[in-house]
Amino acid sequence: IGANLARTVERFGDRDALVDVHGGRRWTYAEFGRAVEEVALGLLAKGVAKGDRVGIWAVNCPEWVMVQYATARIGAIMVNINPAYRVHELGYVLRQAEISVLVSSTEHRTSDYRRMIEQVRSSCPALRDVVYIDDPTWTGLLRLGAGVPPERLAERASRLRSTDPVNIQFTSGTTGFAKGATLSHRNILNNGYFVGETLGYTEADRIALPVPFYHCFGMVMGNLAATSHGACVVIPAPAFDATATLHAVERERCTSLYGVPTMFIAELGLPDFATYDLTSLRTGIMAGSPCPAEVMKRVVAEMHMAEVAICYGMTETSPVSTQTRRDDDLDRRTGTVGRVLPHIEVKVTDPATGATVPHGEPGELCTRGYSVMLGYWNEPERTAEAVDAEGWMHTGDLALMDEDDYVQIVGRIKDMIIRGGENVYPREIEEFLYSHPKISDVQVIGVPDESYGEEIMACVILRDPAETLTRDELARYCRGRLAHYKVPKYLRIMEAFPMTVSGKVRKVELRREAAASLD
Ligand code: ATP
Ligand code: MG
Repeated sequence: IGANLARTVERFGDRDALVDVHGGRRWTYAEFGRAVEEVALGLLAKGVAKGDRVGIWAVNCPEWVMVQYATARIGAIMVNINPAYRVHELGYVLRQAEISVLVSSTEHRTSDYRRMIEQVRSSCPALRDVVYIDDPTWTGLLRLGAGVPPERLAERASRLRSTDPVNIQFTSGTTGFAKGATLSHRNILNNGYFVGETLGYTEADRIALPVPFYHCFGMVMGNLAATSHGACVVIPAPAFDATATLHAVERERCTSLYGVPTMFIAELGLPDFATYDLTSLRTGIMAGSPCPAEVMKRVVAEMHMAEVAICYGMTETSPVSTQTRRDDDLDRRTGTVGRVLPHIEVKVTDPATGATVPHGEPGELCTRGYSVMLGYWNEPERTAEAVDAEGWMHTGDLALMDEDDYVQIVGRIKDMIIRGGENVYPREIEEFLYSHPKISDVQVIGVPDESYGEEIMACVILRDPAETLTRDELARYCRGRLAHYKVPKYLRIMEAFPMTVSGKVRKVELRREAAASLD
């Protein structure tokens, strides 16, 4: 990663690398390369050895990106810590990964990071040093680095291998506890490169990133895709904000915009949406969770993102496995997750037998290639459950592949509803309900039922909160268009869904709340 960045700095030194719209700061590649070097030297001065864990616990900011590349340059393993964590989870990660240096910011909104760090410090013996990017400890780090001979960086680089671990990235924790995937330079740099190549990135591209850096969507599909092609990363705000995002696209003439579906839904739903000039946009990525065709079509038509891609992947696979291509026709670009990326294999198997199923039949998606993680950090048993002896990652996602190798994600195996012996895929019902004029966002879940085992509930966010929607109205809408056993028995109107920081709906939480609401 360090060598790749050096090449980009050499080729595109005078072009923008990073723009912080919120903070009003910007860096060319030459400036960014120097900033990374200063941080790297500072970390060397702090005694960070090859393979040592450096934690980063902060919302999106330029320093986050500098630490990402500085740790890679010195062969440290950066551990991404979820900015929404609280004391208990922070302590767990610090201990589990034996983090020796932690980079954080003193506070953000309601999070007093400094206070939480002080609370856990005594129970984390490995933690030697904490640097806050918004207080004098940061300038102190840079000052220390200034005293280190720059040759030490070259000397360290000569001892690094592409298969060395560079990151511990945590999964979103959508289905339970987040797992720490250990990823190598080879894993994530290649993935970022191919994601960018598939989008046709060049040094002329400017990518608006409202997705969190702590997640692979931001740091690999965003940062690494950008730096490996000489493109620029634009940070609209420390955390997702629909208005700030569109403002950043307009002001910085961004060519690309990323988001999980709910972010695009929020942007399209802004009352002043039509007043933003989005004509600079050409492409972008929607990913992370099921991307409703309706939303994709609106993004293409109303946000100028004619070439927008859907990516499918998971943290454990660097993350992207399949992606739609610019020349795929619109139905494929809105209705599938595309085809496998170069140098990766995918297959769809029967979870019971492991045999590959015929085209068009659902099964568990498995992926193999350079992109599969080294393993879960310090958890060989869980790693063996996820990655088999032949190197296939078992994703836990149900998918089907058509004759032309386009993949469709049916949903997570864990989310499948079994109603009276019939398999019901929430995704299919959700896709249908998105077409309802009153519905802005919808999640379909199974709730316990004495006669059928599970019954279907639709959790709905209305376009206009002043409107009403009754369960009978919904049933009438479904009648004749959806098999009777798929028609939701329950309807729950909500103002928001429980979400992960990476912007995914926590269906586990939704199911728990829903079951409780029926008692
Ligand atoms: P955890 O593993 O901790 O429960 P998570 O699986 O949500 O959380 P991530 O690694 O962030 O953690 O997300 C990967 C998952 O996101 C995939 O396994 C898949 O279920 C879902 N996903 C990603 N992209 C898409 C997509 N384009 N369409 C449908 N689902 C997607
Ligand atoms: Mg997962």
